[in-house]
Order: sequence, then structure tokens, then C-alpha cells
Amino acid sequence: MAKNEKIPENTLFKDIVSHAKEYGFVFQSSEIYDGLQAVYDYGPFGSELKKNIKELWWNTMTRFNDDIVGLDSAIFMHPDTWKASGHIDSFNDPMIDNKDSKKRYRADVLLEEKAALYEKAGDLEKSAALLKKMGQLLEAEDLNAVRELIVAEEIVCPVSGTANWTEVRQFNLMFSTQIGSLAEDSNKVYLRPETAQGIFVNFLNVQKSARMKIPFGIAQIGKAFRNEIVARQFIFRMREFEQMEMQFFVRPGEELEWYAKWRDMRMQWHKALGIPENKLRFHDHDKLAHYANAAVDVEFEFPFGFKEVEGIHSRTDFDLRSHQEVSKKKIQYFDPEVNKNYIPYVVETSVGCDRLFLMLLCNAYTEETSGEEENQKTRIYLKFHPALAPVKAAILPLTKKDGLPEKGQEIYKKLKRNFNVIYEEAASIGKRYTRQDLIGTPYCIAIDHQTLEDNTVTIRHRDSTSQERINADALEEFLHKECSFNQIFDQLD
Ligand code: ATP
Repeated sequence: MAKNEKIPENTLFKDIVSHAKEYGFVFQSSEIYDGLQAVYDYGPFGSELKKNIKELWWNTMTRFNDDIVGLDSAIFMHPDTWKASGHIDSFNDPMIDNKDSKKRYRADVLLEEKAALYEKAGDLEKSAALLKKMGQLLEAEDLNAVRELIVAEEIVCPVSGTANWTEVRQFNLMFSTQIGSLAEDSNKVYLRPETAQGIFVNFLNVQKSARMKIPFGIAQIGKAFRNEIVARQFIFRMREFEQMEMQFFVRPGEELEWYAKWRDMRMQWHKALGIPENKLRFHDHDKLAHYANAAVDVEFEFPFGFKEVEGIHSRTDFDLRSHQEVSKKKIQYFDPEVNKNYIPYVVETSVGCDRLFLMLLCNAYTEETSGEEENQKTRIYLKFHPALAPVKAAILPLTKKDGLPEKGQEIYKKLKRNFNVIYEEAASIGKRYTRQDLIGTPYCIAIDHQTLEDNTVTIRHRDSTSQERINADALEEFLHKECSFNQIFDQLD
């Protein structure tokens, strides 16, 4: 019986966060100096999981799709990039402080949380009306009215419990630094707040060098930085994070058709990772960003509610046109099929690698109880898709003698060339199984005396704990079949 549903949501999330630290997935950055807020490091198993997520996304985009190529652009870009993209003028969040607790909040998040409370209480109309009103006020940049709305909704600071709020101010989220030595003319540069602009400014380089014909896409994985006002919920909202973005360039007028296609393809991808359908939903944007003519979020039900994991946006020709204007360089495509030059339209899919990681971790974390009431046992395991699991298999000789370790080593040495596997001989086999469950290893391979006689090993399956015997020579093929990305790609065809 799965116990997760019964654990209060905030306790469940706390359990997941401490599990992530204790078992080597995520550590707070510079923890020995009491940490740096909203910055995190990935441990031995976390870095493997993250690497697998990135590889899967990359392969999905650039191999599964014939019409998408990759790019790896720099974090620093010419400062005019951010003028053209609109980030210098409008990459702001409305912030508000509570005068008693001195805590800072995002005004829109306070209102969204209130709307979520109405929704939870079943008052969908009130929730929708509040979000609509907020959208209108933010659109009109009427920050005084946003504050009045917070007060009228009787929203209080969770720390002080008071509604003693400052006015609402806009706060730019970009980090800046100086480039060049002080002796030279130094220049203000920004740490990119999204990877997309690196793709836009390289549109012609990529199109020409890879001889791409519209429609085609450019995919990129890389760090992005945002000075988030409220950094909470662990790796959900970080100041340094990784994005996986794909810009798909299309003929003007065809963008909404492609938008609908990508919207469905991306949802399909999330389901193929093993996320249950009822934990995923679309959320259409009421308030569109200045560059978009359609936008939707893919949301996952985290223990703290449904939240955005990925955004799919129809960005029109806004970015390429702005870069053309600011750089004064023509950014156009000659389409031989229609015999015309034009600035392509763009549909983008943008997903946070860290948020995907958190989604997979929350979905994988399972507590299972069994046995009689007085004698109940709880088993914790991470049910990652085998293709994403950090460690694919553990090779475990039953005892430390009788030649079992030698046989185990022989198997381990063969498998480790192609798979991330672990060899372990200390502690009882039960304890070793438990350790692998806690890091989500899908298969434990036990070497026993029978192995020496007939070369068969036992495979224990993580989720069911069921066991089967197979020939040791078939292990490589077994792992290849079970842990390959084909398992996921087969569901996308
Ligand atoms: P939010 O509304 O949560 O601030 P956003 O709409 O600004 O997000 P986008 O600019 O669309 O987000 O970024 C695309 C994706 O990048 C998001 O869906 C999310 O997965 C990820 N992302 C954005 N900001 C952060 C962050 N501070 N920490 C981790 N991931 C982030």
C-alpha cells in the first residue's frame, strides 16, 4: 500500500528534501558557511540523475526529431542583447515587504496563493476572478491597486501575521557584473536570465552552417541566472539554474499550428517519463508576455500544489525583429518554396532541468508500509524510470568468501564500461538492497553459490521486490533493454 497520500503534504515535501540531502542528491551551496540562499549543488547521485535528464532531453530534441540541431552559446552576451529582448526594461517582478517581519514577497505570488486557497475551497469563480483582476492590474502596471488588492483580500505575512505592507515596487531580476579589467573601459554585462537569446542571435549562423530549411529548431541546454525575490521550495525556484530550451522557427501564419503540435508533444514526453496523467495538466496563460500570441504551462502536482515545469510559447517574430532593429543587421530567411524573404516566427519550449529533477524526485519518492499493525515496516524507495535512474544496477555477492567476490568483480568490470553500476560486498544483503532502494537503483544483481555452478544470477526488481534468475552473460543485454532511452522514445512514436 502506497503511503504517500496519507502523509500531510508539507511533511512529505520536508521528507523529500531531507532524503535528497542524506542520500547524495542535492546539497545546499556552501553549506559550511551556512549556505547561500536559493543556490544548490548536486551530489553524486543527483549529478548522475541530472546528466541523464539532460541527455534524454537533448536526444529527444536533436535525434528523435530530424529538424532540430543543437547549440551551446555563452552565458555572457553583448549587453544590447538584453535591450533588444526587453529584459532591461521589463524583466521585473512586483515585490512587496512586510514592515513588521521585514520579509520580502512577490506581490503576484501572494495573490496567486490566495486564489489557490479559493480553488481548494471549491470557489473556482472567486479564484478565477482574483487572477483576472491581478492580471489586469499588472498589465496596466497599476502597482498601487495591486497593493490595495492584497489588503482587500486580507492577505497577511505568514511570519508576522500582519497586513502592514509597504508599497509594491518593480524589481529587475537580472544579475550584472563588469567585463574587462578596471584599467580598460569596463562594461556592464549580465548573466543571462534565459538561454533563448543565445539561440536568436545565432539564428543565421546556425541556419546557414547546418543548411537548415524552415521549419526547423535549435536546442540548447545551459545555465540561467535570476535574482528571484522569493526563493523558496528548494530547487523549485533557484537563483542559478539550468534551462533546456528549443526555439522552433516557422513560416509566419503557421505558428499556432506548430504551437498546438509542440504543446501536445511536450505533454506526451512528460507522461513517457512515468509521470501519471492525473499529476500533469495544462495551464493557459491569462496574461501573455509582451512577445507572445499564445502561451501555456505544463504543470505538475508537487506536494505544494500544481506548479509550472515547462512553458510552451508562441513568441511571434518579436525577438528576431528586435535583434534586427537594435543590431542593424538583417535577420531574414529566404524561403524558396514561397519565393519570399521573411523574419521567421518562433514557437519555443522551455523547461527547467532542476524543476524537472524536482518533479521526478517527488514522483519517485515512495513510502510503503507492510506487515501487522504492531509490527509494521516501512520501505522507502525512489521509483525512477530505469532510463533516468542514477545507478542502473548494484552487483552484490551474497558473502565475502568462496569466490563470490571474484565472480562479482568479473561481472562488475564488464558492466561498468557501459552502465553506471555499483559493486558492494559489505553488510547483509537486505541492508544492501535497502541502500539501493533509497537511491532508486532499479536492479540488484545478487551473486550466490549457484552462480559459480551455472553462471546464473538473481535480479531483484526495485518496485516489486520480485526476483528472477538469468544467465550472467545476458546481463548486458538485459540492462541495455531496460535502461535505454528507447523505453521512452517508444512511447513518443
Ligand atoms: P515562474 O513563473 O515560475 O517564475 P517563468 O514563467 O518566469 O517561471 P520561464 O521564463 O518561462 O519561467 O522559464 C522557463 C522554465 O525555466 C520554467 O518553466 C521553469 O521550469 C524554469 N525556471 C524559471 N525560473 C526558474 C528558477 N528560478 N529556478 C528554477 N527553474 C526555473
